[in-house]
Amino acid sequence: MGRAFVYVILGGGVAAGYAALEFSRRGISRGELCIISEEPVAPYERPALSKGFLLPEAPARLPSFHTCVGANEERLTPKWYKEHGIELVLGTRVKSADVKRKTLLTATGETISYKILIIATGARALKLEEFGVNGLDAENICYLRDLADATRLVGVMQSCAEKNAVVIGGGYIGMECAASLVINKINVTMVFPEAHCMARLFTPKISSYYEDFYKSKGVKFIKGTVLSSFENDSSGKVTAVILRDGTRLPADMVVVGIGIRPNTGLFEGQITLEKGGIKVNGRMQTSNNSVYAIGDVAAFPVKLFGEIRRLEHVDSARKSARHAVAAIMSPDKTGDFDYLPFFYSRVFTLSWQFYGDNVGEVVHYGDFSAGIFGAYWINKGQLVGAFLEGGTKEEYEAIAKATRLRPMVKDMIELERQGLGFALSI
Ligand code: FAD
Ligand code: NAD
Repeated sequence: MGRAFVYVILGGGVAAGYAALEFSRRGISRGELCIISEEPVAPYERPALSKGFLLPEAPARLPSFHTCVGANEERLTPKWYKEHGIELVLGTRVKSADVKRKTLLTATGETISYKILIIATGARALKLEEFGVNGLDAENICYLRDLADATRLVGVMQSCAEKNAVVIGGGYIGMECAASLVINKINVTMVFPEAHCMARLFTPKISSYYEDFYKSKGVKFIKGTVLSSFENDSSGKVTAVILRDGTRLPADMVVVGIGIRPNTGLFEGQITLEKGGIKVNGRMQTSNNSVYAIGDVAAFPVKLFGEIRRLEHVDSARKSARHAVAAIMSPDKTGDFDYLPFFYSRVFTLSWQFYGDNVGEVVHYGDFSAGIFGAYWINKGQLVGAFLEGGTKEEYEAIAKATRLRPMVKDMIELERQGLGFALSI
């Protein structure tokens, strides 16, 4: 049994939604495009899951955050796909792929063949088991990657008002979930191995600002250590988290955010991998001409840095998706992807944006006590990265533009003095 399509997108997340919109804009015929997703719902804006979805009042629920509302584009509901003749094969896991034969085999036993395949399988959350911690099937341990996880997290949160949560991990999930737990009136302790939160991106000075803000909301931090085990009650529920130094933290629920692994498994040994992802060229094309990769799973050349990177952020998923479709549909008019990395987060009343690369010497600027501050990263005499908390739309646009232009910076003291003015004057 089988079906054949011209274009198949494997994975139904953010990148898939934006690719579908681009296909429809460039003009495809009914029945040419199919999206296969393990998730039972049409593509949605994943960032909502750790923000609006977790609010106690008027939480975001589908269909309100289907792609592509996150980029102020059309909202692609299941009806939209139907109207545009795009086949959605939902709740269906692809269990093997054969790139020579151009076929995918689903867990339901169907073979789907393609002329062009776009891999948009994203990533999965790393599990504590992979770090040697056992006993993780407890109903009050939560991960957060997809809608099912988020729905479960909401249920657990609702049973824990005024009680204690331990958040494992000091990255994006840890920080955003800790804020949401506080908003849901839950007492939060964060535990992570680094000396400061968001260590992949923030400087210690920037981290201190956010940690102090979180502390003012009642969050406790235990840094420089990891958990070693859990204590459970007779029903298997976690009742406490035991840290490596023996500290015991009573816990009514646990949220874990310890990083991700790209979903490359179906293609290992068939196409070239790099940086843990699927290697593509500037047209998002893999080592097999008929196969493209986009979003979290793709390792692509970032022209500005002159090297291959794999990014785990929504803007990159959206734009790499559009670029791949442009390269497929208009090959002669499409050059290489020229992407400026952009990361952001919103927690409590705070909101920051970062553009570029966080390498080299750092110059902080602004007024940390007033909550409007940032940093520039200078590498080999050029501005390569910029961070801003509490900026206006124009100010964020200015740091983005400055980072793309990479101006030479000779005098760090003068740069610090000018602060945001430096970016605004470019
Ligand atoms: P995904 O959106 O993860 O989609 C992958 C899809 O592929 C899923 O539907 C999955 O089920 C499906 N799939 C995988 N394997 C198979 C298979 N074998 N068969 C069928 N289907 C399969 N980034 C930001 O920049 N800002 C944010 O504020 C932000 N917030 C986030 C909040 C949360 C809770 C999470 C989890 C991520 C957040 N991100 C954020 C990151 C951002 O969501 C990702 O970068 C983005 O979703 C990547 O898109 P993608 O399409 O590559 O992968
Ligand atoms: P992350 O890489 O941001 O952070 C992982 C954190 O896990 C590290 O900071 C570290 O503190 C901790 N850690 C690692 N190993 C550990 C261990 N053995 N025990 C305890 N702690 C450990 O990953 P994440 O926070 O899990 O986020 C998952 C994905 O979701 C990422 O791709 C991220 O980009 C994405 N995301 C992005 C946003 C955003 O951009 N605003 C928001 C949410 C999620």
